[in-house]
Amino acid sequence: MLKNLFKNISESLFPENFTCDLCGSETFGTNLCPDCKNSVIKNDGNTCPVCGRQTVANEICIECKHSLPLYDKAVSPLVYENGTIKLIQKFKNGNAYLKNYFALLIAEKLKNFPDFDLIVYVPSAAKSLRRRGYNQSFLLAQSVSQKTGKPLLKNAVIKTKETLHQKELNGSERAENLKNSFKVAKRSEIKNMRVLVIDDVLTTGATANEISRILIAAGANKVYIAAAASVRYKMFND
Ligand SMILES: [Zn+2]
Ligand SMILES: [Zn+2]
Repeated sequence: MLKNLFKNISESLFPENFTCDLCGSETFGTNLCPDCKNSVIKNDGNTCPVCGRQTVANEICIECKHSLPLYDKAVSPLVYENGTIKLIQKFKNGNAYLKNYFALLIAEKLKNFPDFDLIVYVPSAAKSLRRRGYNQSFLLAQSVSQKTGKPLLKNAVIKTKETLHQKELNGSERAENLKNSFKVAKRSEIKNMRVLVIDDVLTTGATANEISRILIAAGANKVYIAAAASVRYKMFND
């Protein structure tokens, strides 16, 4: 009976799962089994106050110091390593329900974050949209909007050209590749607004930066970024 009660409560929290989201083993009321939970690292330690990436010390990272991002501040609840990488891959490839887990973690982080007026998201390339059938950042944004009560602006940022796969490019090539690849649909929707941009993963931050650039150009008052995960900041690029 107690077990059932627990099950019911958990079902309402994580209705889709009674097996581990990563390895598929049976779990009771949690989305991840203990082993997998350990492999999904929370970004709770020292972070850079600008880009939000995990750092060694609680101070602005050298990358941000060297070239300050165009956004005001970014936050991400998970470190993009080990289990997190697998979980994000699953989310991007058919397991859309994982949006709830990631959005819950993002919403939790947003409690200690500057206030914002509305939510937008990184648009996906037409090709990946066709392949996946959904834009994972849109699903995340939708779920974060529900959890925070902040309005979601659909198609506020649109993709204007197909870009090369960012994965195969280095930092400056990424920035070049993204140049003029996004557009704000209606400037009046963005003007004087504090905008939160939702992305799935923050790696080099090139996409976040390019979207920030066009939002600022459209008159955004503040631009914030929230991603499900971000790469750990490495002092030495190894
Ligand atoms: Zn597991
Ligand atoms: Zn930083």
